[in-house]
Amino acid sequence: MRIDVLTLFPEMFDGPLNHSIIGRAQTAGIVDLHLWNIRDFARDRHRQVDDYPFGGDVGMVMKPEPVFAAVRHILQKEESPVILMTPQGETFNHRLAEELSSEPRLLFICGHYEGFDERIRQSLATQEISIGDYVLTGGELPTMVVIDSVVRFLPGVLGEESAVKTDSFGMGLLEYPQYTRPREFEGLLVPEVLLSGDHGKIARWRKKQALRRTLRRRPDLLDKIDLTSEDMELLAIIQSECDES
Ligand code: SAM
Repeated sequence: MRIDVLTLFPEMFDGPLNHSIIGRAQTAGIVDLHLWNIRDFARDRHRQVDDYPFGGDVGMVMKPEPVFAAVRHILQKEESPVILMTPQGETFNHRLAEELSSEPRLLFICGHYEGFDERIRQSLATQEISIGDYVLTGGELPTMVVIDSVVRFLPGVLGEESAVKTDSFGMGLLEYPQYTRPREFEGLLVPEVLLSGDHGKIARWRKKQALRRTLRRRPDLLDKIDLTSEDMELLAIIQSECDES
């Protein structure tokens, strides 16, 4: 996958995207990341990328010309989703990450200051993404969040492909609790079933824990999935256990 990022601060991406799993995905050639400084596309003497808002208001607004010039230079005649990072966009989630991971290329525009000239949204962006109902100082962190989560879906990035399925949201549920050695830590024991070697029992225990956790923390997720007959049976057991305690 080729990823282009338009930003006023390309150096911000150096740390987070060059290490660990995403760093290795780049080294392996699974992801081809290109960072572009929007200022390099400003044509005036002062390489100005922002200006005062018409009508008067606090703060500065990103000018349209350098952003349009950058996108046209990068894409030439090629097609790509042009994703504008904005708190006003569609809220990012697992489904959207998976959807974006099937694209051969993505282009992100990071806003700054008080945001960007509306014409960038109108005529350049094909999609607007928010990472949540809060406002950050710039689109760099949101873009890194989206890239990290999209790249995890690309074949060959995670050692174990099935991990994205059992992770929270993968099958529509929150993930079951995980344990590692030691078997006992400060008096806290690993559940006996996980040591049993019985894969059928372990799978059922995990499914039950995932359902229990989702029911308690994110019951809204249960409305969005097709529950199997085993899920219904386990939910009934969980409910009866709740009633008893
Ligand atoms: N004035 C804008 C508004 O109220 O919608 C917010 C501008 S914000 C200070 C500057 C830039 O940070 C935005 O243009 C956007 O690129 C990025 N940004 C801030 N919060 C974000 C969020 N929750 N999701 C995605 N991008 C965000």
